[in-house]
Amino acid sequence: MRIGAVVFDSPMRRKISGFHQDQHSDWVAELECGHGQHVRHQPPWQIRPWVTTAQGRHSRIGIELECRKCDEGAPPDAWSSGGI
Ligand SMILES: [Zn+2]
Repeated sequence: MRIGAVVFDSPMRRKISGFHQDQHSDWVAELECGHGQHVRHQPPWQIRPWVTTAQGRHSRIGIELECRKCDEGAPPDAWSSGGI
């Protein structure tokens, strides 16, 4: 909850520019703003079978995700290696 901020609840939407895996082999979507966002496939809680295939990941490049880190003004994430 934000107190005193003149912000209506419209999360920042950023396009996916790529993907990489973190040290736990979880997939992270790289957003155009420089932030990363986990896109896990963990049934039955998180169903994203597309993230497990290169073709599926390619098909998601360019779509928009809500970036909470932008909303929070967080600095860009650092990732050492790209790749898809
Ligand atoms: Zn962002």
